[in-house]
Amino acid sequence: MSHAYAEIIKDGKVIGWGEYNGTSDVMLPKIRESEEEVWKHWRERDPFQYQCKCAEPKPEPVIVYSHYGCRFWWKSEACLTCRVLTGELCPDDMDDIVKRGDPLGRSDD
Ligand SMILES: [Zn+2]
Repeated sequence: MSHAYAEIIKDGKVIGWGEYNGTSDVMLPKIRESEEEVWKHWRERDPFQYQCKCAEPKPEPVIVYSHYGCRFWWKSEACLTCRVLTGELCPDDMDDIVKRGDPLGRSDD
């Protein structure tokens, strides 16, 4: 129960899904194509094996929206070639810029 889905959002669109570890308060770096893909790799043994391998990384701004607890989001960066997060993974370290609620303004119903 301590892990949750997260959405990776770029330019107002959900471009991928990931897994948030609520025990350690850390986002796992891999960006998956679907929620089903995330579930397939749920609680993977070595989640930090995924890293940007680009010779010249081009990090792009994204929003990570964690569905953990009362749900929150923060700004991070990702390499969309390698499909991994390269920016901030730990929302705990930056309480001032972590926001609650749906970043796209969707309602739950
Ligand atoms: Zn890369």
